[in-house]
Amino acid sequence: MNMQVGVLALQGAFAAHSDCLTSIGVQSIEVRNPEQLSSVDALLMPGGESSTMSQLLESSGLFDPIAARIADGMPVFGTCAGMILLASEILDGRSDQRSFSAIDISVRRNAFGRQVDSFEATVNSSVGDFHGVFIRAPRIERIGKEVEVLGSINNEPVLVRQGNVLAASFHPELSNDARLHEYFVSITANRKKV
Ligand code: GLN
Repeated sequence: MNMQVGVLALQGAFAAHSDCLTSIGVQSIEVRNPEQLSSVDALLMPGGESSTMSQLLESSGLFDPIAARIADGMPVFGTCAGMILLASEILDGRSDQRSFSAIDISVRRNAFGRQVDSFEATVNSSVGDFHGVFIRAPRIERIGKEVEVLGSINNEPVLVRQGNVLAASFHPELSNDARLHEYFVSITANRKKV
């Protein structure tokens, strides 16, 4: 199928996501401005620093066009900082930090593994079991009724979905395993059919 997935490339871990998509034969482009956004069928938001990304989304003029595309049903996949950008509520965020309210979860920044900045753990998920790399990861503290928990560690949700919005608190692009990218692509393929 002819599909183009955008990778938000304002800041953070975007390059490894593009490599994952290439490894499964999916065409991707880095998105830094509204014109590039208009050519994609889906958008991946990488890990990085969500407050910086929030600022860059405003200054690049991308915030409103992305919000409009999400409202129109464009599939989005946010990982780590990307998950924070999609959440309906950010706890411990910077006061001027914005998010898209695309998935009904409350996330607390840097709260997963407060003692250790980073850790790795097996994520048990209905999509498969994943090696999860958590780096100053957000913790999901509340989940809305419409949100499906796809994966967790120690009974805590770390992979969630609401309609065409997918979010992970870990970094799937760092474990040499593109199954979650494949899952996201399948969401996009199903949307394209309708
Ligand atoms: N702590 C970062 C933030 O608040 C997220 C960390 C990450 O994406 N690895 O944006």
